[in-house]
Amino acid sequence: MSDYKKPYMITIGGSGKTRSLSIGGDAPVSIQTMWKSSLIGADLQEISRALSGLEQLGCDIVRFAVPDMESADALVRLSAITPMPLVADIHFDHRLALRCLDGNVAKIRINPGNIGGIDRVKAVVEKASDRNAAIRIGVNSGSLPKDLADKAEVARASGEDPVLARASALAAAAAREVFVFDTLNFRNVVVSMKASSVLETVRCNEEFAGRFDIPLHIGVTEAGPLVSGVVKSTLAFSRLLSEGIGSTIRVSLSDSLENEVIAGREILAECGKRSGGVRIVSCPRCGRNGFDVHDFVARWQNELLSLNKDITVAVMGCVVNGPGEGKHADIGITGAGDSVLIFRHGETVRTVSVADGFEAADRAFREELGKI
Ligand code: SF4
Repeated sequence: MSDYKKPYMITIGGSGKTRSLSIGGDAPVSIQTMWKSSLIGADLQEISRALSGLEQLGCDIVRFAVPDMESADALVRLSAITPMPLVADIHFDHRLALRCLDGNVAKIRINPGNIGGIDRVKAVVEKASDRNAAIRIGVNSGSLPKDLADKAEVARASGEDPVLARASALAAAAAREVFVFDTLNFRNVVVSMKASSVLETVRCNEEFAGRFDIPLHIGVTEAGPLVSGVVKSTLAFSRLLSEGIGSTIRVSLSDSLENEVIAGREILAECGKRSGGVRIVSCPRCGRNGFDVHDFVARWQNELLSLNKDITVAVMGCVVNGPGEGKHADIGITGAGDSVLIFRHGETVRTVSVADGFEAADRAFREELGKI
């Protein structure tokens, strides 16, 4: 068995147009999201443009479901036109992985337990080696090998915490797959263990990381809609990242790709794992507001967070907490009676009448933003 306790870094991408990206070791923690619709019949140029937008928001890797050969063909074509490192998500049919590896796909995600035997895993490993692609070994609490699922059940029946018993089983299942790839001499791997509970996610990753320094992709699976998904992911990631566990993250949401990426970057920033970029501070709005903070943030959030600037933007509903509280901000906007003020470092630089509509305020804000 190889020494997996050394600082362990892999590099994905780098072929064709694909951007190269280091994962694990001292490399920055990467943000991943997963494309939310089918590739069949999709406009690949349009997807490529959307991937550029996600990259500007801070996304490093995008995974695509590849349930059939038509999707695999489309992913191969997409991998030729986008610099974004792409991951092919394969279940059951190893031929789909082989087809994806004809292109510049940077990583294949397989669950060796459902790919159908060692010969098929070996075929994927050999082609991934030839193509310098990585493999993400994914194990899920819903598809544990029977002996490990039985063992977890016995532990639960004998009084052990069922969550901890399942977490141990997940870590053991992942370790088992690592041994398989090791015997095949393939170490360009990332491991993910997916559970839908925060505690189970934390414990299985802690247990695995105690044994191996292999890069871990962390995520709470089926985490739910925006609010519950962000809460669960934040709880799990903040604990794991503070322990130095997690090389790539995905905030899994029943919501947009953009919000998955934004949530990921906010979590990394708050955990001290990513710095720079645009920070938006905005008030929650109350009855004093003379300016609709919610509408402004909804209109501007993605554009602001896509800017290549290291600035703080304050959005306040009224003068009670407007320029004063926003003093530290590089630029801000606030309601003030029948006016909207735009301020820089607490000093008002523009005044727009509310009667002129939000377009006038947006225009003035954009002009001032351009001066920073
Ligand atoms: S800034 Fe003004 S509008 Fe916003 S929450 Fe504070 S008091 Fe209310």
